[in-house]
Amino acid sequence: MSERWISDRLRNIDASGIRKVFDLAANMSVPINLSIGQPHFDTPQPIKDALTQAVADGKNAYSPSQGIAPLLERIQTDVDKTYNHTDRQVFVSSGTSGALVLALSTLVNPGDEVIVFDPFFVMYKHLTTLAGGKTVLIDSYPDFGIDLDKVRDAITDKTKVILSNSPANPTGYVATEDELRGLAELAAEKDIALISDEIYKAFCYDEPFRSPATWNDQTIVIDGFSKSHSMTGWRLGYVHGPEHVIQQMLKLQQFSFVCAPHPVQWAGLAAWDYDITDRVDEYRKKRNYVVDELRNDFEIQGGNGAFYLFMKSPWGTGTEFVVAAIEENLLIIPGNVFSSRDTHIRISYAAEENVLQQGVDVLKKLARRGPR
Ligand code: PMP
Repeated sequence: MSERWISDRLRNIDASGIRKVFDLAANMSVPINLSIGQPHFDTPQPIKDALTQAVADGKNAYSPSQGIAPLLERIQTDVDKTYNHTDRQVFVSSGTSGALVLALSTLVNPGDEVIVFDPFFVMYKHLTTLAGGKTVLIDSYPDFGIDLDKVRDAITDKTKVILSNSPANPTGYVATEDELRGLAELAAEKDIALISDEIYKAFCYDEPFRSPATWNDQTIVIDGFSKSHSMTGWRLGYVHGPEHVIQQMLKLQQFSFVCAPHPVQWAGLAAWDYDITDRVDEYRKKRNYVVDELRNDFEIQGGNGAFYLFMKSPWGTGTEFVVAAIEENLLIIPGNVFSSRDTHIRISYAAEENVLQQGVDVLKKLARRGPR
């Protein structure tokens, strides 16, 4: 095997953080698992049925690269109703992850800077590196809000993209209207592309969802069915944004992913009409439960959306606390997987009630016990 084979692009991607967590977790047989970044529900039956039907009906070949017409029409109609932008085009992607690959590859030149809020969803950093760009982190501790002065100060001649994610992974933070409007207007003023990752849009517990696209008609919105409809393994997402960007992203999709999985797109039609209010209500209850249980022993900020709490470790570093949790058979993720800091831990409350109860008990016990 030759040392020369692997590209610098890939060598520059450091995945050691998450690998360390997997190593730590390797000996856990049946952990109390509060580490999972997806709903604990199975895919709703009507959506499964639509997939089976599509396969049986022979919808198994390539689809048009932009997606099947009925799904495109459905999404475009809703997007037009919501934003009323003259230049907002939709296409269907291979998950939001696929859309992020396309967006960053389309927008970022080598040396360009991409503004990302820290803590961040790990993929942002790695995909920016893959595109040859440089991630510029904006510290959003302790409350995870968007500080517009910090963003303004971070902007240079090389700033090409700002990545926004509300509700956010890992913090569960839902940005305020003022923050999103300010960010949207700042991006427009400075001629910087604004990518809005809205995959957790359905999971807003205390206020309605807001998109920065409301105030910036050039915003590139990335969304998908993974979290809202428990379809993580099916790889279905979509994008809407200004036509000149969408067309370039589609060019790359044609020569990479080709299309989103064809039968899954037909299931996406069923998903579009499937009411997930009950699921969101259940996650709101779970959020209320874990926050009530943990608020006396942990400093909690954010948590108004998605299904995560990102909490300050009550003692030691995030990693030290996670090591102690794993000794008690509880699997959670240290904050440094999502951040330049190692001060916090992420828990996911997308879990069965008994698992949550056990997890909460271990967390409280460890917080009170202190380091050994
Ligand atoms: N964005 C965020 C913020 C996420 O948390 C995730 C999934 N963990 C994704 C994108 C990717 O989702 P998909 O399954 O649609 O690729």
